[in-house]
Amino acid sequence: MSKAATADTAKWDLAPLYNGPGDPALEADLAAAAKRARSFRRDFRGRIASDRLTSDLLRAALAAFEELQRFAIKPSLYAQLLFAADSTPVRHRGLLAKVREAWSAIGEELLFFELELLKVDEELLAELLKDPGVAAYAHYLSRLRTHRRYTLSEEVEKVLKRKDLTGREAFVQLFEELTASFRFQFRMPGAEEPSEVTGEELLGLLHHPDRQLREEALTLFLNRHAEQGLTLSACFNNLFLDHSKEVELRRYPDIMTPTHLANETEPAMVERLMEVTEANYGLARDYFRLKKKLLGLEEMKNTDIYAPLQQTARQFPFAEAQALVLDAFRGFSPQLADCAAAFFTERRIDVLPAPGKSGGAFCAGMSPGLSPYVLLNYTGNLRDVATLAHELGHGVHFSLSRNQNLFHYQAPLPFAETASVFGEMLVTRHLLERERDPQVKIEILAAKLEDIIATTFRQNVLTRFELAAHQLRRERLLDAEDFCRLWWEENARLFGDAVTMIEPYRWGWAYISHFIHSRFYCYSYIFGELLVLSLYRRYQEQGASFVPKYLELLAKGGSEPPARLLKPFGIHLTRPDFWQKGYDFVADLLAELKGLVGE
Ligand SMILES: [Zn+2]
Repeated sequence: MSKAATADTAKWDLAPLYNGPGDPALEADLAAAAKRARSFRRDFRGRIASDRLTSDLLRAALAAFEELQRFAIKPSLYAQLLFAADSTPVRHRGLLAKVREAWSAIGEELLFFELELLKVDEELLAELLKDPGVAAYAHYLSRLRTHRRYTLSEEVEKVLKRKDLTGREAFVQLFEELTASFRFQFRMPGAEEPSEVTGEELLGLLHHPDRQLREEALTLFLNRHAEQGLTLSACFNNLFLDHSKEVELRRYPDIMTPTHLANETEPAMVERLMEVTEANYGLARDYFRLKKKLLGLEEMKNTDIYAPLQQTARQFPFAEAQALVLDAFRGFSPQLADCAAAFFTERRIDVLPAPGKSGGAFCAGMSPGLSPYVLLNYTGNLRDVATLAHELGHGVHFSLSRNQNLFHYQAPLPFAETASVFGEMLVTRHLLERERDPQVKIEILAAKLEDIIATTFRQNVLTRFELAAHQLRRERLLDAEDFCRLWWEENARLFGDAVTMIEPYRWGWAYISHFIHSRFYCYSYIFGELLVLSLYRRYQEQGASFVPKYLELLAKGGSEPPARLLKPFGIHLTRPDFWQKGYDFVADLLAELKGLVGE
């Protein structure tokens, strides 16, 4: 099971998709997709928003609509993966642009369909939903129709979509290309001379034992963002303004409404989640003070948060990390482990950092008909092991929900992080159980707490910053200084007097790609983390009987709204104490750590 990650096997194999950016099959698929889109339009346009709509016709249209998109996703997945693995070759960028344009054209042909679906009379639709073939799409239809009030005419929607290419999407692309092009001259630990490194490698050094090195690495990374402050703030300004204009055009009551509709969350629930998080900021500060003591520091800087507790930070060769994660998954459920193992045997994972490669980590699951892929930037620390568990958790979720249709394949957004964070929790407990050295145990527990702090408290800071910046952008153009100030203020609320931020951290907002790619996504991490802590506690209480319920939850994908997905577990999101219970679990972990260090 522990195949070594050599230069050869550490790269993913995209050949099952296409043979290269110039593969004639890709070109042919794009052309066929465009043709199918045109005939779909010819067959169904004007027949959906009609009093004479029958269940036969609607069923056929829904099936054709799904089938055509499943077909058209393949070139898009391929182009995105190719670009993510290496954004430098012109032909990779060219293919991505080409596929995006093709999608946009297909999207235009198909646009009428969802708009007509929105117009179908409520009573007629209820009648048609009695047909099982239509009912298979029930959740998709009900989600779509929540947008009913905010949708504009087909002509306007078409123009908006077309202008997005040179508007919103162009700024997203600019941000991606600019940040992916960053190279840094830095003397890596143990090296004699400075060499060219990526931003990911610099951020990886935040886990290095050398305090000065950590600060230098983050400073260099952030200063580059400061140098590009004009361009980066232009991207933020335009994307935020674009959103503000969209809110006006569609008459959303609030800037977060589209997110709530997409997430199927209630504004009050999310606000409560954030308030409870803020009420527990003290837990994070408590941890930072403990860590300061363990590190023997006079002053705790934000570059010290991820410092290893021992001078010899444990390194995990990739083969060991792979075995660890698969064993932890197997201890929970062999089915879970088998799904994760397939990423290695089918070479659907790209492991090591490389120039031009996209930063961070992700799992791309775009269609139930196409196997998901995982991208990592593995450097070998404990955090990277957690990231591997995280992304494989996503991967398992996608694999288990592959029997859902395209529209029910992905989990509702607040559940998007459930399987990933649960996977991490399994690995943490597995590591703690097999470890004999109390010092390493302390390190594992500390890493878990740091991770929880990063996925709850830090995400709350990110969301508050994003909200504040969007609000202010509705009033006026923001300069880089505004973004820096808002960022600093929100972070200061969390850190209080427990942590001192280094001055260049003012630019910490400028590299968070969530602000660019998926607006207000960050609260989903808090939701996901607290939900997982609660699910994990149930697993501890119920043992084996919990496992099938959990697998069933993953297999349901996005076929039901969040509240209904949680029903089998007896979880009610509206209960005021639900979120606090999650933080009580965090407090228990902190107490466990304090016990180990003899506090
Ligand atoms: Zn994730």
